[in-house]
Amino acid sequence: MIRNRAVAIFGGTFDPVHYGHLRAAAEISERLKVSNFRLVPAGQPPHRTGTWAEPFHRLAMLELAVASYSDLHVDEREVLRDGPSYMADTLASVRTEVTSVPLLLCVGQDAANQLHRWERWRELLDLAHLVVMTRPRSEPSYAEELADALAGRHVKRARDLMDSPAGLVCHVEVTQLAISSTDIRHQLERGWDPRFLLPATVLSYIRKHGLYGTAPADAAPSSDETSPRNE
Ligand code: ATP
Repeated sequence: MIRNRAVAIFGGTFDPVHYGHLRAAAEISERLKVSNFRLVPAGQPPHRTGTWAEPFHRLAMLELAVASYSDLHVDEREVLRDGPSYMADTLASVRTEVTSVPLLLCVGQDAANQLHRWERWRELLDLAHLVVMTRPRSEPSYAEELADALAGRHVKRARDLMDSPAGLVCHVEVTQLAISSTDIRHQLERGWDPRFLLPATVLSYIRKHGLYGTAPADAAPSSDETSPRNE
């Protein structure tokens, strides 16, 4: 496939990464033919009180998830940077490396609806195009100031994003997978098995390191444990 020069940035806490993230990433990468698709785990997400797994675990799980896919990359810069992980800083830093190519900030619809709460959010559209990915149970709902800022920037076809470096908005339908990290964490805390919602390699890592309330792999299983294990 001939790829264009665009670079895509898909940020998140990925706590843990799941097939909702990965399928959306794969579809955007393929359909928009971006030359470089980067998943960017937040070091310290500014809009949350904390994360469940440490940044190095979330990074390692992402690396495992995309290990066999050469078009999907993990970008460590937010984990390596001190302080809150502001996307405006991330895009500015990526922009210094890629100069004038189209830069695509990929966000799910739920995240797009909250964009006006992000630090220096107006700068985001100076630095990148916004690609809004559909997500189950999440309809477009923009606060007035955000709707005003997005007005006049919408394009219908994703290929219209390829003629300029930044400043446009495109809504892209991706396969609807009603999977969330929250749901996976809840299942794990209850001792249920969230297999098939996330890669088996990621689930094995979670169990090996005792993340999200699972017993570390070398601990003996409790006698009342009924849910099957993947290891
Ligand atoms: P949590 O349940 O902890 O809030 P999450 O599943 O929403 O996590 P995040 O890491 O917060 O995952 O999301 C990162 C980005 O991925 C956001 O832009 C979000 O909208 C998007 N995203 C997450 N899950 C899906 C999904 N199933 N389909 C499409 N986009 C998704």
